[in-house]
This record gives sequence, C-alpha cells and structure tokens, in this order.
Amino acid sequence: MLPGRGDALKRFRYAAALSAPAYLLALFLLRERIPGGLPLLLLTGIGPVAAAYFLVAYLLARKRDDRVPDLLPLLAWGGTAAMELHAFVPQVARTGVVPAALFFGIALKFPPTLSIPAIVCANAWLAAVPGPIEIEIYHTSAMALVAGAAGVAVRGWHRKSGREGNGVQEAVARSRALVLPWENTENGGFPATGEMTEESSLLRREVELKDGIRQALDRLLGLTGASHVAYVARSGSPGSVLHEGFLLSRGSPVSREISLPDTYVPVREATVFGKPFLEVGPGAMRNPPWKSGPGSAPGGVAAVPVFRKGVVEGVLIAIRDEEGPWRDPVIPAMELAAHFVGRDIERMRELHQGDRYFLRGEWYHKMVRKMAEVGTDGDHEPGGGVHSRREMVYAETAEQLRRQVDADRVLLVESGEDPRNGRVAWVLSSEGGGPGQEGYDPLGDSYVGWVIRTGTQRIFPGTGGPPRSQGVLPGSWEKEGERSFLVLPVEGRVGFRGALVCAHPQEKRFRKRHAEIARDITRVMQLGLSHVERLESLTKKATTDGLTGLTNRKAFLERLAADLARLDGRHPCGVVMMDIDHFKGVNDTYGHPFGDEVLRGVASVLGKGVRKGDTAGRYGGEEFVLYLHMANTEQAREGAERFRRKIRQIRFTHAGREISVTASFGVACAPHHGDGVEELLKHADEALYLSKQRGRDRVTVFPG
Ligand code: GH3
Ligand code: MG
Ligand code: MG
Repeated sequence: MLPGRGDALKRFRYAAALSAPAYLLALFLLRERIPGGLPLLLLTGIGPVAAAYFLVAYLLARKRDDRVPDLLPLLAWGGTAAMELHAFVPQVARTGVVPAALFFGIALKFPPTLSIPAIVCANAWLAAVPGPIEIEIYHTSAMALVAGAAGVAVRGWHRKSGREGNGVQEAVARSRALVLPWENTENGGFPATGEMTEESSLLRREVELKDGIRQALDRLLGLTGASHVAYVARSGSPGSVLHEGFLLSRGSPVSREISLPDTYVPVREATVFGKPFLEVGPGAMRNPPWKSGPGSAPGGVAAVPVFRKGVVEGVLIAIRDEEGPWRDPVIPAMELAAHFVGRDIERMRELHQGDRYFLRGEWYHKMVRKMAEVGTDGDHEPGGGVHSRREMVYAETAEQLRRQVDADRVLLVESGEDPRNGRVAWVLSSEGGGPGQEGYDPLGDSYVGWVIRTGTQRIFPGTGGPPRSQGVLPGSWEKEGERSFLVLPVEGRVGFRGALVCAHPQEKRFRKRHAEIARDITRVMQLGLSHVERLESLTKKATTDGLTGLTNRKAFLERLAADLARLDGRHPCGVVMMDIDHFKGVNDTYGHPFGDEVLRGVASVLGKGVRKGDTAGRYGGEEFVLYLHMANTEQAREGAERFRRKIRQIRFTHAGREISVTASFGVACAPHHGDGVEELLKHADEALYLSKQRGRDRVTVFPG
C-alpha cells in the first residue's frame, strides 16, 4: 500500500476491511445459486486471494522501515478466507477449528469489552444458521467459546506480565534502531552539516578535506592537460538525482560548486559500474556535462571512481574542451589522484569519528554532573515556583537533546498507567521550555503510541512516510510545519516511561547517529531520575512521621518558619494545636496497639481534611498541629471546629465494641497573636490548655 496518500489511504484501509464481511455475506446468500465449476471457483477464490495479498503486503511492510504493517485488512480477509474454508469444506467444518482459531485470535487481539460481544454474536449466528452439519454445530460452538475464553485469559496474562517492565538498560538495549533507506550515508558525500551545534571542529575537518580535494584537482589539471576537472560526491540522499562537488577550470583558479545528474553518462559509468570512463573525439561530444557555455561539446571526457574501503565514494571527472588527444595517459593519472582523494576521505572520516567521540564524552560528563547536582541544589518544592528535581532532570534532558540532536522542538512524552494514554511531561522549543500538561491524552493511532507500545525507535524523514493517515503525534500536540521526527521509546521500572520526540521543520533532519546520541542522553536521564527518586524517598522518610504518615515535628516547624517568612505579616495564617482527650485512658483500657490505631485514624482525618497549601503534622505523642494557610482567626476557628466534629464521628472498633474519641483544640493566628513560630505555638498551646480546663472536646481561640 502506498503511503502518503492521506485520507485516500485511510478510506482504502477501512473499505478493504469492511468489504470482507460483506463478501462473506454475499457468498452466504448466493451459495445456492452459484453454478458449480469455474464460476464457483472464481467467486470463492476472491477471499483467499485477498488474504494472500494482504499477507504479502503485511510482511513486506514489516521488512521495510518506512511502512506501517497494517493488520486490519489482513485480519479481516484472513478471517474471511478461513470462514470460507469452514463453509465449503465439511471435513474442516466438523473439527470446528476455524471458529476456534478466529475467536482465539479476536480475544487475543482486542480487549474483552469488544471481543466477548463479537464472539457471542458470531457464535449465536453459528448456532442459528442451519448448515449441512447441524449436529456438529454445538460441538463447534462449544469449542469456539472455549477458544475465545482462552484468548481472553492469555491476553490478560500477557498484559499483566508485560507491564512489569524491564530494567532501564535492558529496555534501552532492546529498542531496535531502524535505518530508513536514505539514512544510510555510509557512502554519502560530505557529512551533513549542523548535526551537532558544537561541532565546529567537524566543520574544520570538512574544510580540510575540501582543501585536499582541491589540491588533488589542481595537480590533475596540470597532469592531464584537461580544461576542467571535477570531483563529484555521491549525494547522501537517494531520490535526489544530483551529485555535488567542485569544478576547477583552467584559467580560473577558484573552484566552483557543481552538481551533475545521476543520468550523466560518465558519472553513471563510474558510480554504478565502478569503472573508468574515457571518450575522446567525436564520441565525447555526445557527453556534455553542461547544456551551454564553455565545453558544452567536449572533445574528451574521462571519469574514474573514487573508492573508499571498496565502496564508490564519488567520481573524478576530466573534460577537454578542444578536440585532440589527451596530453598524458589520462586514466592512470586520474586513478592515482582518485586513490589519494579516497585516502583523504578515509582519514577525514576517522578524525571526524574521533572528534565526535571526544565531544560526546565531554557533554556526557557535563550532563551527568548536572544530574548529580540536582540533589545539592537546595529545596525544590513542587508548586513553590522552582521546578521540582524531576523537572530539572527533564529540563536538562530536553536541553541536551535539543543541542546534541539539533532538534527544533523536543517533547518528553510520559505514558500513563494505561500505555494507550500519554502526556507531554516536558516540552522545549525555540520559544522556551516548561512542563507540558497535567492530564493524559489518548495517543490514538499516532506513531508515538505505536513506538511506546512496540518499543521500537523510528525516524521519520518527512517525505514518503509515515502514512499520512497516521500522525506522528496526537493532533493536539502537533506543531505547524514540523516534518522530520525522531521518536525514541523509553522504558524503565524507575524513572521515565514513554518516548522522546525530536521534531524539526526540515525534511530528513534526523539520522541514525542522532538516535544513538538521543539514546545516550536517555540513559543519563534515567540515571538522573533514579537519583531523584532515591533523594525524594530519603527526604520523605526524614520529614514524615512513621506511625501516622503526617509531617513530623521537625519538618512542620521548618515549613511553618518558611511560610511565616514568606507571608511576612501581609497575610493571616492560623496555627492549631490539638490533643486527644483522655488518651491515657484509651491506652490503659484497650492496649497500646489500639491506641496506635486511634492515632492513625485521627491523623488520617487531619491529613485528608486539610486544603492544598495547609499542613497537618504530628507534634508528638497524641498531640497534633495544623498550619492553615491564609486563614484569619474566624476561618481558623471554623477549621478547628470542623476537625473537632469529624474526630468525634470516627468509629473505632475493639473486640466488637464501638469506641470514639474527642479532642481539644487551641487556635492562634498570625499576625494578631504573634508572627514568630515559637510565639504562635506557645499561644495555641495556651488556648489548648484552656480547652482542656473548660471540659475538653472544644475549640478555644487565643487569648481565650
Ligand atoms: P488529656 O485529656 O488531659 O490530654 O488526657 P490524656 O490522657 O490524653 O493525657 P496526656 O495527653 O498527658 O496523655 C498522653 C498519653 O498518650 C500518654 C501516652 O501513653 C500516650 N501516647 C503518647 N504517644 C503514644 C503513641 O505513640 N502510641 C500510643 N498508643 N500512645 C501514646
Ligand atoms: Mg498530651
Ligand atoms: Mg491527651
């Protein structure tokens, strides 16, 4: 199937799939009226032929990297062919193997919500239609149902075990790099420029190489007595017919850039057949490299291939304007020059590799250092204006990707619990970077979803593929004008699960080496994230109370101090101290473990009841403390009242008996009752003492 036909392709897909059941129905309705022999054979042959066609298309697409293997028409027509077999061959029908296999396949491929109704409908149909083998219908139905159930079970088991995920390294190692045909630049011309912004030294290498080739051309001009000599490199991108290189002409010492089409005979001879080409005299006039201007009817043309490691790298061409013999044995001279040019290219490639290796080592260390620094960089509370540690890792990763891979836009796509959904966790473009979205979007049949599901990396050059009916990104994430994409799956038990997407408005922007760089960056990102996760769990341990999970006393005091400093007396805030009434009695009557249970129950009410921005802490023993952000005296009192009522309502059970507890509260508010931590807590404690004195189970606002 041809990609790039947009909606037409999509229509074809669905039409192909839908015509299968229609065909089956027609066959069923007409079965009595079809005359035997050839008409029957022709008509019944449509199913198997279509199935074979889609099977071949599927297998071919699987082999090619710029095609999406399309399962839908294959399933539809494969199923149809199998059903035909079932309908026309009684021996096959009797075994019931076709519906069983179909149902197993359907149950395996689709979620139970779709597959079970489909199977039940088909089975009802099977039972309702009296066929030539009515007795076996029950046997067939039973077998099909069992197969369907087995399919559902296998699917469930598969998904469950598949979701466990593998280690980061394993996953990275597993992801295949697929090379599109035009990505193979091994024999290409000069390395594409701009692939790494820091590669100024690579540009220098290129200039060195060009200088070397110019010198070789210059010598060749003298040796051969040609009017023009040129080196043309094979263009890196097949499909474009141009060969680019330089031309040096007698009398003009400055070389010019030229391009020659593939179809130019001497170039074709040298590159395709790897042979020297020589044409002198009238024959040469048939091979003008340019349509007009000097030498448009050359008197002699010679071309020799330039090899590097046995592969044709380019062509040296010599052209004589005047008629007459060449001054020297031109082919040997050119072959010698070609040898040196080939060696120059070889050397340049090696140096280039070395430079790249060095540069990559450099940024790798920089990035690892940045990741390590995430932990030492002070406190990064989410929502506190500063990015969380995790977001700092995202930001650094995106930044590195944008620079190293030279992407115009980078998206870190995090997959949801359900891998069919995803969210942009971080996006970076020329307009700046930042967190993407909170919620998850369905990935649909976008290519990103496919990459995440299959763990296969893809490079989209922007021409010819991917099929336009399938966007690389879900519609709402797309950006006008982006054409090239590099999509890399990221899978890990810790850290990040999803995909990295690099996008660029230029076609054919990303190559295999970019994917390698991106993979290295991913590796560092995963290291950074597991570092962050460890730090976060350590921080959490240090700031939470083990029994209740609330903020512990130390962390509460720190947070209170920080918040008071930030409010700076401009806004009110409330501090509430709370103590459970007669708790010693609870412990004494029902035992310490039950006392702990009561503490956990009360803590859970407090923890769940506070708003965002508030803090509930365990102050010690059975004393708790609340920080109510921006609450004035009245609001703080109401808040405490609310908690008092809620705590009364908790029902604990001990040995079949229902037990409830009450608590007393003391409230103090900044800035009226003080603006320092100690002062506020002291005043709240005094109010709490008054609550106790006045009979417990009540709220008292300082000064009482
Ligand atoms: P009051 O109404 O005056 O507050 O009476 P009370 O019995 O609650 O008195 P007090 O606040 O002095 O009692 C504190 C008791 O809480 C003492 C201790 O046994 C108990 N306690 C402190 N920490 C824990 C704990 O972690 N688990 C359990 N089960 N009990 C605790
Ligand atoms: Mg107490
Ligand atoms: Mg108490």
